[in-house]
Amino acid sequence: MKRRDFLKKVGLGTAAAVGASTLAAPAVIAQKKYQWRMVTTWPPKLPVLQDGCERLAKRIGELTDGRLQIQVFAAGELVPALESFQAVSDGTVEAGSGASYYWAGKEPATQWFSAVPFGMNGQGMSTWFHGGDGLKLWEEVYAPFNLIPRPGGSTGVQMGGWFRKRIETIDDFKGLKMRIPGLGGKVVAKAGGTVVLTPGGEIFTNLERGVIDATEWVGPLHDLRLGLYKAAKYYYYPGWHEPGTYLEYFFNKKAFESLPKDLQHIVNAACVENEHWVLAQFEAQNGAALQELITKHKVELVKFPDEVLKKLAKLAEEVNEEEAAKSPIAKKVNESFKKFAKVVGTWGMISEKAYYDSIVPPYPLKD
Ligand code: CA
Repeated sequence: MKRRDFLKKVGLGTAAAVGASTLAAPAVIAQKKYQWRMVTTWPPKLPVLQDGCERLAKRIGELTDGRLQIQVFAAGELVPALESFQAVSDGTVEAGSGASYYWAGKEPATQWFSAVPFGMNGQGMSTWFHGGDGLKLWEEVYAPFNLIPRPGGSTGVQMGGWFRKRIETIDDFKGLKMRIPGLGGKVVAKAGGTVVLTPGGEIFTNLERGVIDATEWVGPLHDLRLGLYKAAKYYYYPGWHEPGTYLEYFFNKKAFESLPKDLQHIVNAACVENEHWVLAQFEAQNGAALQELITKHKVELVKFPDEVLKKLAKLAEEVNEEEAAKSPIAKKVNESFKKFAKVVGTWGMISEKAYYDSIVPPYPLKD
């Protein structure tokens, strides 16, 4: 049977046939394949952080059936770690990953989307992004740089760091040479310390040789890997300076918007999936690493004295306000953050905190 006859027979006229073939056309266009590159701020093979970017790329490849392939480059493989933001902004590459406090020099407001000393934990940050106006503000802050940000998961509460000497009072920070980035570093400087910016690869040697007296890194998993327990005796908690550091993915706006809508949706959904995966990895693996540090390496865990934490909190408030005064958008973000933290914190005090305070830890950390 000739095609025209068949169409007549099933009741479709010529116009409908033309319509049908027009409808079929987008399916062909949608098969266009996209090849992207992602540059990160992480060393190759860094657990959870670099691994997470590799995982995101793999998932996007799977979910798009190969229509969007992303090749991931660790720090220094294509561009140096701290040039990834600019490379994606310029459109040299399409995607990047890091922590937004690295970009404080470009816009102070970026710092609120990663870690605020004595600010919200990972759960609070996630709630601000997805249940408040956090992500909307983040998009506003990145828009002048032609970037679209997406939350990349939380490290959970970080550890306070490794110290060669005990911290008994706030004065013990005076003259202390510490590796500590972000707003937390500014707080330590305000307390009289000297902040040293040391790349991850040099932290252990600097601490062991006494070039620095103390360092923070991430949490038990990453700290164990770096062998920091061999270079300093005291492992302090909690990580007041990074109470739930959020990681990030960012995309060149033009590249993102040039994707068909369905691929844009997949990228967004894959980022949220990865966000969950990242936190799960940190929480599960930090717990196991902490056990190992205590039982195998006999690390001495020390809590910062309450009085020290109180004084650091006061200095942190001053630092946050000083940084917020540096740009109108930083002020706006700080106000949103504070307001949200207050509401979420009020609930958290009688839910999360009250619950934790009420339980007797059954964890046999010393066995
Ligand atoms: Ca850290």
